[in-house]
This record gives sequence, structure tokens and C-alpha cells, in this order.
Amino acid sequence: MVDQKTLAVHSVVLEDPPLDFDALPPVSSQLVVFDFDWSLADQDTDRWIHELLSPRLRIEFVQKISTMQFTDMCAYLLEELHKEGHTPEAIQEALRAMPMHPAMIRGVRSLQSHHHGTDFLLLSNSNEVYIHTILPSKGLAEPPLFTEIVTNPAHWEPNGLLRLRRRISPDGPQHACKVGCSANMCKGDELDAFKQRHADRKYERIVYVGDGGNDFCPVKRLGPNDVAFVRRNRGLARRILQEGGVQCTVRYWTGAWEAEQLLNLLCPPRP
Ligand SMILES: [Mg+2]
Ligand SMILES: [Zn+2]
Repeated sequence: MVDQKTLAVHSVVLEDPPLDFDALPPVSSQLVVFDFDWSLADQDTDRWIHELLSPRLRIEFVQKISTMQFTDMCAYLLEELHKEGHTPEAIQEALRAMPMHPAMIRGVRSLQSHHHGTDFLLLSNSNEVYIHTILPSKGLAEPPLFTEIVTNPAHWEPNGLLRLRRRISPDGPQHACKVGCSANMCKGDELDAFKQRHADRKYERIVYVGDGGNDFCPVKRLGPNDVAFVRRNRGLARRILQEGGVQCTVRYWTGAWEAEQLLNLLCPPRP
């Protein structure tokens, strides 16, 4: 049984916290990094699939999450989903039905069209199949929003099983991150690697949009000219509060309509 105090602490949500839309300095080049689940998307792919198709597996998700590596657990639950007879078509249909707030889509497309020195990177612990199914259904694949999508590999097997693997295979060298990134991927390392691959772009500012505890590592690596747009009441906000050590500017948002206002601050000033 979970005690009443713990349940109460986990129930605190501020409906209308203070607005925080003060201007940010203009730059000529910037990289906007998006986490996917609960950041760009208004849901979590790995959980949503089971909420729609198999509530039994959604319960098992909660029961197993503290005992298994996260990506391995998601891969195991997909095997169970396949055993229950759910087809690729049913999974794809569920993914396309996953919520993404119109204000978020408006915000990123507006920034892309108004600031041509902006690149977008998607950095996610979800997987290739989920993301490449959802983005086209929300109008974000054509023209492409993201320069690169960094996530876990996945593919459909001939029998219809969605096979998911860790980005960093358990059989090879592991990352050395000490901030608490999951074994499948260090998001801080992935952000640094992207910056190296695109060193010619000379970004004046990195903007990180995230919500989860695993977004803390890349946010910690940002400098004083960078900005984090942090979703309230979730793991990233809690880690910033409890562990500190963040050098970048932090702006908070709850609903995508607020994130849209923050994204507008990254556009060049209107004459
Ligand atoms: Mg997330
Ligand atoms: Zn890390």
C-alpha cells in the first residue's frame, strides 16, 4: 500500500501558475532540442500504446518499471502485446491517435518559418517506429521539422512483432554518464555528439524542451547563453529543484499553449 502522504505529494498540480514570457536575447543561429514524450507530444508513447490496446500490460508496466532496464521492459511488453494478438495496423492506429497539442505544432512551425537560423533535433527514449509513425500524422514530417531524430532502433518483424532495441547495445561498450541516464542512451552524450557532427553551424544558443528526469543530463551540460523550457510537475523540474547545478536560463511551462509562447520568444523581434 502507498501511504496517504506520498499520494498527496504526487497530486500537487498548479492550474494557472505565474506567466514567465519575458523576452530572450536575439541570436542568428540556434539549436532547439526536443524531447518527445510529454514534451513535443502531449502523452507518452510507451505507456499510451498499452493504455489503448492492453490495460493489463499498462498495469504490468508500473509493476515492472523499478525492476527492469526501461527499454528492455518496453521491448518485453511489446512481445506480450504481440502474444495478445495486436497487429501492426492496430498499433499504428493507436500511435496516430496519440495527442499532440495544436499549439505545440503551431509553435514549432512558426519558429521554423520565422527564424531560418534554427535547427531542430529530436532526442527521445521512445523509438524509431513510434516517432516515424506519429510525426507524419501530425504534419511534422513534410516538410521535415527535424534535422536529425536520435532515439532507440525498432522495426517490424515479418510476424508483426515490433522489435525494440537499446540505442547502446548491452553487448558493446556502455556510456560513462554518472548523472543517471538509462543504460540505453545518455542524452547528454547524444547532444554533444550532434553538436560535433554539426560544428559548422556554430550555434549561438541551445534551447532544450523537456520534461523527464532523463532530460536532466543534457540540461546540465548547457551553458549560460542557453535556455531550458521545462515542463512543470515532472521529473526534470524536480531534479533541477533538488540537485541544482544548472547554468542555463530555465523557463517553466505546463500546457503546450505556454510552450508556444516560449517558442515565440526565440523568433526574431517583429519590426
Ligand atoms: Mg519526456
Ligand atoms: Zn547522461
